[in-house]
Amino acid sequence: MNFIFLILLFAFGTLIGSFLNVLIDRLPFEKSINGRSYCDQCRHQLAWYDLIPIVSFIVLKGNCRYCGKKISWFYPFVEIVTGLAFVFVFFGNIQYPIPNIYYLQDIQHLIFDIQKLFILFGYWGIFSCLIVIFFSDLKYHLIPDQIQLALFIFGLIFLTFERQIFYLAFFNHIIAALIVALPIFLIYFLTNGKAMGFGDVKLAFNIGFLLGVKAGFLALYFGFITGGIFGLFLILLGRKKFKSKIPFGPFLVFGILIMFFSKEQIFEFIRRIYGF
Ligand SMILES: [Zn+2]
Repeated sequence: MNFIFLILLFAFGTLIGSFLNVLIDRLPFEKSINGRSYCDQCRHQLAWYDLIPIVSFIVLKGNCRYCGKKISWFYPFVEIVTGLAFVFVFFGNIQYPIPNIYYLQDIQHLIFDIQKLFILFGYWGIFSCLIVIFFSDLKYHLIPDQIQLALFIFGLIFLTFERQIFYLAFFNHIIAALIVALPIFLIYFLTNGKAMGFGDVKLAFNIGFLLGVKAGFLALYFGFITGGIFGLFLILLGRKKFKSKIPFGPFLVFGILIMFFSKEQIFEFIRRIYGF
């Protein structure tokens, strides 16, 4: 294994992660994503050396250089998760021959395999969107529309290049999206948006589009199960004030990830137990 390549890939992921942090904090409030970064507490503008993923956080021991207040551990955490996801996808899902960066040929193979490049791009994009959805819903109880749209577009790239879906089959996925979104829409509609937001409805649409009907419903199911267990824990721990305020998006993301990576095993399990 080429260790330098691994480090570069991880570093690239953490840079994207640092951009995702900007999206997580600004998109829910419709702030421009172009402005310079500043400290959440003292509003001091941050220099480039304050913004090096993970490294700055460690050097500053988790405190702002200007006001000394604590920086949320969310920031380095998102960067690490993104870095790991980028490495994981590259080695786990793309099956590139691992390039040796000292050989020009290896790099050329990597760049000129257009189909694999699109698959990689689709996977990285989907993961980035899921990370933003997870954390913006967790922090602000909002899933930005721009990210839902981005997830749809990366999903389209994924279906086209990875699953090789074209023309009419594409409409099957739109219909699957509507079917999977329907029960979430009914919950949203019947509870006046109290149990679930419209963001969850749109996310369910994306889930159906990406995974199809069967895996899509299973992703919802795993979302409900984990969300329910988590909610029960909070109530048992006496933190009832969170009871009505648990965002559902992070659990849906969890459900998507389970179905994304263990679809076949779970289908097989259901076949064996229930026979369909
Ligand atoms: Zn500060």
